[in-house]
Amino acid sequence: PPPGSPDIDIARAVTPRPVIEVAAERLGLLPHALIPYGHYKAKIDMAQLDVSHQRGQLVLVTAMTPTTAGEGKTTTSIGLSDGLNALGVKSTVCLREPSLGPCFGMKGGAAGGGRSQAIPMEDLNLHFNGDFHAITVAHNLLVSLIDNHIHWGNELGLDPRRICWRRVMDLNERALRNIVCGLGGTAHGVPRESGFDITVASEIMAVLCLAEGPKDLQNRLGEMIIGRRRDGSVVTVRELGADGAMTVLLKEAMMPNLIQSLEHNPVLVHGGPFANIAHGCSSLMATRAALALSDVVVTEAGFGADLGAEKFINIKCRLAGLSPDAVVLVCTVRALKMQGGIERQALDQPNVAAVEAGLANLLRHIQNIQQFGLIPLVAINRFPSDSDEELAVIQQCCLASGARVVSADHWARGSEGALDMAAAVLDLLQQPPPNVTPLYSNDMPLDEKIHTVATQIYGAGEVHFSASALSQLDDIHQLGFGHLPVCIAKTPYSFSSEPGVLGAPVNHALPVREVRLMAGAGFVVVICGDIMTMPGLPRHPAALDIRLDEHGEITGLF
Ligand code: ADP
Ligand code: MG
Repeated sequence: PPPGSPDIDIARAVTPRPVIEVAAERLGLLPHALIPYGHYKAKIDMAQLDVSHQRGQLVLVTAMTPTTAGEGKTTTSIGLSDGLNALGVKSTVCLREPSLGPCFGMKGGAAGGGRSQAIPMEDLNLHFNGDFHAITVAHNLLVSLIDNHIHWGNELGLDPRRICWRRVMDLNERALRNIVCGLGGTAHGVPRESGFDITVASEIMAVLCLAEGPKDLQNRLGEMIIGRRRDGSVVTVRELGADGAMTVLLKEAMMPNLIQSLEHNPVLVHGGPFANIAHGCSSLMATRAALALSDVVVTEAGFGADLGAEKFINIKCRLAGLSPDAVVLVCTVRALKMQGGIERQALDQPNVAAVEAGLANLLRHIQNIQQFGLIPLVAINRFPSDSDEELAVIQQCCLASGARVVSADHWARGSEGALDMAAAVLDLLQQPPPNVTPLYSNDMPLDEKIHTVATQIYGAGEVHFSASALSQLDDIHQLGFGHLPVCIAKTPYSFSSEPGVLGAPVNHALPVREVRLMAGAGFVVVICGDIMTMPGLPRHPAALDIRLDEHGEITGLF
């Protein structure tokens, strides 16, 4: 297919190699460590893998403040890994699994794009190896055990009004956001208010992605808080006795999935936590497997660097004792123009002045990454409409700020277009290892942790806590969870909490509405502004254009 063809046409024109061959040749995986799911997908049995020697170097791919279309972190992660492999380096890319909600809604799938994709993209985008199904069922099993416990006398003394577990499904379904369950009389349970969230918002998703293995997974599931008694004391999953059965349901879902890029290099896709109310990166088990099996591991963190990179370092790396060896900061001309105040419809027209006006946003992200002790490599993800003049102003600005910069054409040309980027990453990896420092220590009080992120990363002047947020913080300290890191849920479209505030705002106030303890995942969610945990579908959802054609092929998926 010619450049610019639909992603699915490009993907389908490449015949994947049998996954057993990719595993053996590219990862040196022995057959007993691989559980094939058909010809082109497999799970890696972590029990058969020695991850004690973590030989790889870790490269984080993050981005400037994105447009709603996404600036190509997944595409660039895959392109970079293909570029590294083309240079003879054993590289694996670790990605999140896409949710069906956005896939049938507006955003489409998440297998990369153009000549930098993971295949088979249909399988990846549609109930991939059953992982999200398993998480959905584990979550809903817990809630049915809670309702059943109350029905049979409520021995634990749960206050039905203070149960914090709702049900989940992996679709956008606004009509189920708020429901009352247990209606119909005494034989049908105890009425209480509830609702549905999308599966990727489940705490179980975050737990699965931060667990070291089956034992740690069960332990974390057991630590999750399901609600309160009348006296305010917490009830955990372990007290209810649900952790065992939930772990059993997740037995396969906890194994990382192996597929391949269009150039037949290994792609691990595992877990898909939200990037607002959770930490937004693929599983720790996949990272560990990749670090044990390859020399360079490229991984993506959701949203812009203010959310994704901050959480990657302050939550995932802190917990796991990991540290990125290099950071790639994806930037696009269109996102810069949007930050420069241009309307969405005009983003593909050359406009050097708008790009210049948007550079403040990129610069803030560069400085933020420098704050962690890393030298960012800015990768300009090239779009067909970019002009040389626009690229030149970006390059100048990056160099003047102490960042490195490279323009990357992997979307149009695959690994060939990513060779400069791969070489620039290799050069960073050959420098003495960076001394990456998290922004705050565990023992800093929670409100100060929030203040630190707000001022140092977002440029806020102050944090406004609602009265209820303050008492929730107090409560979390009293329960003994004050040492946890904070996971801030705010809009990805601005450094501030308001999506319309562009560029690099300073001295704004971060409003904290609510704080939630995720005792199993091991972080405290801090909600700033309206955060949706069950999206709705747009007026014309993508699902209306998805079909199975006369040859049994899927059309309309993107
Ligand atoms: P992110 O991971 O940052 O959300 P993706 O990699 O999923 O972004 O890319 C978002 C969309 O943009 C995808 O549909 C992808 O095909 C498209 N895209 C990415 N890079 C380019 C590019 N250089 N030119 C044209 N389209 C691109
Ligand atoms: Mg992505």
